[in-house]
Amino acid sequence: MADGVRNGAGDSARGGTYEVARDGACDGRGARGDMRDGTCDGTCDGSHESAHEDARDGGRWGERGGALMECAVFRGPENMAIERRPIPECPDGGALVRVMACGICGSDVRAYYNGLKGGAAEQIIGHEIAGEIVEAAPGASRFRAGDRVALAPDISCGECYYCRRGLVNLCLRHRMLGTHLPGGFAQYVALPRDVLEHGFAEPVPAGMSWTHAAFAETVSAVLACQKRVGVSLGDSALIIGDGPVGCLHAEVARARGASKVFIAGLDRLETAAGFQPDLLLDSRDPEGCREQVMRATGGIGVDFAICAVPDASAQERALALCRKRGVLVIYGGAPASAELSRLNSNAIHYGEITVTGSFSYPATGLADALSAIRAGHVRPERYISHVLPLREAARGIERLRSGKAVKIMLDPWARQPLP
Ligand SMILES: [Zn+2]
Ligand SMILES: [Zn+2]
Repeated sequence: MADGVRNGAGDSARGGTYEVARDGACDGRGARGDMRDGTCDGTCDGSHESAHEDARDGGRWGERGGALMECAVFRGPENMAIERRPIPECPDGGALVRVMACGICGSDVRAYYNGLKGGAAEQIIGHEIAGEIVEAAPGASRFRAGDRVALAPDISCGECYYCRRGLVNLCLRHRMLGTHLPGGFAQYVALPRDVLEHGFAEPVPAGMSWTHAAFAETVSAVLACQKRVGVSLGDSALIIGDGPVGCLHAEVARARGASKVFIAGLDRLETAAGFQPDLLLDSRDPEGCREQVMRATGGIGVDFAICAVPDASAQERALALCRKRGVLVIYGGAPASAELSRLNSNAIHYGEITVTGSFSYPATGLADALSAIRAGHVRPERYISHVLPLREAARGIERLRSGKAVKIMLDPWARQPLP
């Protein structure tokens, strides 16, 4: 049954690839506008291969009742297979969601090449999910069939030392959809009771598209980080990283009132330039970066340096660009095999610099992100460069790694001929 798509050798002509125009509108040449509720937003001329009918009628295999769904299964490093598996049952006390969009996260890229946490394999990955509740178990409280939900992956236990203190992101028995439980690279995802009680499922605000709702998960972590460290009016913030997360940090810092926002990056400086940083720095020239940052901050360094790349030397250099009493944030984990940073402890000591990490988000994280998007403080259309069918998941991951895409959303209902 399985159709192995090793090393992303998918067939893009059959799968259909959609490039999203920068303004989010369809250009009629293979791109399309964002879909809302499974229908075209009307900006397309219908000339491109459309996913829309399938999205409405459930597709060929997506009907429930003993039928199969399509999913992308991570089998091990650089090995992703498109499979058809039974549509999951609605769990006791939980809900079943029809996935309408699922983002490919930087952590999915890392998992694809380096493996999942704990060496898990044979798993449906993907955790930036938006979809429709198709069934809610009796007593599953907040949701009913037909509700639109945004999901985030973290599931806390509710009982450990940290959970009892409300620090759900630090839970000692922390689990994630897409790692410990099947995730969103699938047409359906089952949400066990735990997810509804100790995880993240939030109503999608009216009028928000599926892809924008799925993007909220990425926003949650960035927002939570800057809230906690307190980026605020008048601050200077240096963001290391020109990928979607780095750009998001820049957009959020600006929205929170930072008066100087600098982005340092490598391959995607052009994208980062679109976010109009006060300085756009090329990390390949560390001395040049240093000079420019110092000049722009009167020779003292930045209030906040946020490292959105899992690179030890970048972290070390970022520390040297913090002012005294400044804050260095290690955002984004490095693979276990990577070299860890050797931070200058004297700089931290004499400069009273705070070095902190940032992982996941508090219980309000996803709701905060959805309202920031709804309010227009964060604009997902600036990040989403491609919407691909599920079949193209591996290829999407490769594109992200090569810097040829910014943010990719998978549409599990895009038309995909049988292999
Ligand atoms: Zn993510
Ligand atoms: Zn816990």
